[in-house]
Amino acid sequence: MRLGYSKAAMASGIALFGGTFDPIHHGHLIAARAVVEQLDYERAVFIPAPNPPHKVGQGLTDAADRLEMARLAVAGEPRFDVSDIEIRRCGLSYTILTVQAYRDTVAPAVPLAWIVGSDSLPELHTWYRVADLVELCRIVTAARPGYEPSDLTALQSRLSDPQIERLRRDILTTPRIDISSTDVRRRVHQGLSIRYLVPDAVADHIQSRGLYR
Ligand code: ATP
Repeated sequence: MRLGYSKAAMASGIALFGGTFDPIHHGHLIAARAVVEQLDYERAVFIPAPNPPHKVGQGLTDAADRLEMARLAVAGEPRFDVSDIEIRRCGLSYTILTVQAYRDTVAPAVPLAWIVGSDSLPELHTWYRVADLVELCRIVTAARPGYEPSDLTALQSRLSDPQIERLRRDILTTPRIDISSTDVRRRVHQGLSIRYLVPDAVADHIQSRGLYR
């Protein structure tokens, strides 16, 4: 199983970025770069989920294709890596299990963060063992146009006020990139160009594998 970092090279923190990445796009990549730069972390690791609890039954593209597209997208970028840790694990992709696996492997002094887009933050109370998760790592929120996560009251059902305050402090000012995987899939389906929305190597993979038609 690849966790996506070299123990020896790891000086500072690791920002884990989970998602379906169906496909990975420049919104993901720009958000991850902004997070590692702002936190001054060693790297971001993209972790495609085979089976996220909130997307069960949505007919995701084969996990092997999503993993390959993520690898193509980060190729040559020293601060980015991809891990297949969730794809290799059976069952639903619970974030806490993934973060725990990293916590068990890296030195205790290495900070860990989990990146979410601002559309995901207000939904955090629906996540499995979220109170434990926010104790295990920082949850760092990247900006996403159309989603201003100012109202976090729903989180009070599962998280304490200090925990919510920490989440609020970790809402970062990152570039607002209005790209979604849904839109990329729709454009391919309609025969429109996806150039500038995804890396060229990802667009080539989509074309050669006939995805999203
Ligand atoms: P879909 O349109 O299929 O729902 P998506 O574009 O939202 O996909 P996901 O793979 O579901 O992409 O997202 C993984 C994570 O990346 C989520 O936390 C999501 O909020 C975040 N994210 C996705 N797109 C962006 C973006 N343009 N800017 C910032 N964060 C993003």
